[in-house]
Amino acid sequence: MANLEKRELLYEGKAKKVYLTSEDDKLIQEFKDDATAFDGMKKGTIGNKGEINNAISSYLFEYLENYHIPTHFIEKISSNEMVVKKLQIIPIEVVMRNVAAGSLCTRYKIPEATIMEYPILEYYLKNDELHDPMINEYHAYAFGHATPDEVRAINRIASKVNAILKFFFDRRNLILVDFKLEFGKRNNEIYLADEISPDTCRIWDKKTHKKLDKDRFRHDMGGVEKAYLELRDRIINA
Ligand code: 5GP
Repeated sequence: MANLEKRELLYEGKAKKVYLTSEDDKLIQEFKDDATAFDGMKKGTIGNKGEINNAISSYLFEYLENYHIPTHFIEKISSNEMVVKKLQIIPIEVVMRNVAAGSLCTRYKIPEATIMEYPILEYYLKNDELHDPMINEYHAYAFGHATPDEVRAINRIASKVNAILKFFFDRRNLILVDFKLEFGKRNNEIYLADEISPDTCRIWDKKTHKKLDKDRFRHDMGGVEKAYLELRDRIINA
């Protein structure tokens, strides 16, 4: 990737910037220290978050590729940048849940930490203005975001990622409570996109249930950077 040049900014999100490059089919994804919650209503920064999330995401994408999960990840090129495949992003957030937390507890009045007998897969429309409303697969077809075949591929990948990562975190004495995935398409293939990090997952210590994710920022629990660093070290240096 030595000759790949970073060109103009294509898109700036809340936690990442995406740049065009000298190669049409590749982008550079740059992770920021900025943190937001509650559809952008709460804003702040988390020290070294860009580097930590790039390190964790790169590691997990590579790990998943070893299990034949198609991801957009190509290469980590600096502390806070990775090269990724250029995809047509599907504007749907796919959430997988193993343990009750967050909006599941609020919506269905389930006590936090209740273990789900079977993983729950949910879809949300990616739209801050509408507060990411929950949808089902028929909305995805009707709105033209994905075909039934594409949704089947997304479900298969999401379930496989959950099975792989649940064991991955369990071996590190961590619980993968829930996580959000995003997908994109290229040449009729579905790829896992975006990031997998403490910004997009809930991860607790197995014994103490200490939260090692963005909930510390969302709910002003303190020790956010320390928790992100602890998680990185438990993932990468295990
Ligand atoms: P909940 O629906 O309980 O708020 O979130 C479920 C899981 O998906 C959590 O791990 C949460 O971090 C992730 N998630 C859901 N929506 C978003 C979002 O808009 N941005 C990010 N970064 N994560 C999300």
